[in-house]
Amino acid sequence: MANNFTIDNVEIKRGERLRINIDMGSIYDFTDVKMPVEVIRGKKDGPTLFVSSTIHGDEINGIEITRRLLAHRALKNICGMLIVIPIVNIFGFNDRSRYLPDRRDLNRCFPGLKNGSLASQLAYKFMREIVLKSDFGIDLHTGAFHRCNFPQIRADISNKKTFELAQAFGAPVIVNSDLRDGSLRAAVVQSEIPMILFEAGEALRFDENNTKIGVEGILRVMKVIGMIKSPQKITRKKTLITRSSSWLRAPHSGLNMPRIKLGNTVKKGDVISEIANPLGDHKTLVRAHETGIVIGMSLLPLVNKGDALFHIACEKERKISDSVSTTDYYDNIDPVNAH
Ligand SMILES: [Zn+2]
Repeated sequence: MANNFTIDNVEIKRGERLRINIDMGSIYDFTDVKMPVEVIRGKKDGPTLFVSSTIHGDEINGIEITRRLLAHRALKNICGMLIVIPIVNIFGFNDRSRYLPDRRDLNRCFPGLKNGSLASQLAYKFMREIVLKSDFGIDLHTGAFHRCNFPQIRADISNKKTFELAQAFGAPVIVNSDLRDGSLRAAVVQSEIPMILFEAGEALRFDENNTKIGVEGILRVMKVIGMIKSPQKITRKKTLITRSSSWLRAPHSGLNMPRIKLGNTVKKGDVISEIANPLGDHKTLVRAHETGIVIGMSLLPLVNKGDALFHIACEKERKISDSVSTTDYYDNIDPVNAH
């Protein structure tokens, strides 16, 4: 690790813990906009890890994960440096919106441009000040509005280092996920920095179980990459690894009534939901299009034909690490009704 380490021209010395408000310019009412970042630099050298959340401004569960992480006693004596960014898309967050005021999706604007759109400028500064100064990254997301995700790591598992990081996190499921143009993951891969994405829960909601899995996962990664030596009770979790996933779309419009929950295993052809009309005289059965585990689902009962209903990771292509049941994680939780 370099002796002198700066973020936005603020130097962080060994043994220091600093809050840095990265300057993001001003908005049209002349208010200055800052991105708060907490940096913890251990006395001993080690890797630099960034943990970011809320690149999509309404995906707030990661903020609770970072808040708990920052209060964790395991961070009192770390090797290397931890950079925590609870809210990357500060503009969208204040508007409770996934997007920026210019209607762009920040996660399609990486690596960004110094003099590009507002989203592109934000992406550029985040890359320059945080990502490119790190050795590893964890980015926290949730499902979209009215869509809930089973806790899962998305990563390019063909990349050995990234796969190791994904396994270290220990979420119930790892989903191999292609890179999308303009995403932070795609930009980071080009920079050869191993990064994983944690998805859990839904937009604009906190979920206690997902928060715990997130905090423990980050601590496990920190242990595996040598940043914390003896964390309390951080055991390796069992993980189901899947190589592809796809959404099942509504075959009919109407009122959607699922018969399954997140984390359930379904077989191709199983009836997993029914879609009824409001008068009760018509019903369409929805059958699973794949055998696999339900890693995401719509929570909104009102659907039009073609709406995404269930996200299924294919079991036929799965690998199991440490032979596992995902019910370990969701035994006492009904995620569909938890909100
Ligand atoms: Zn997201």
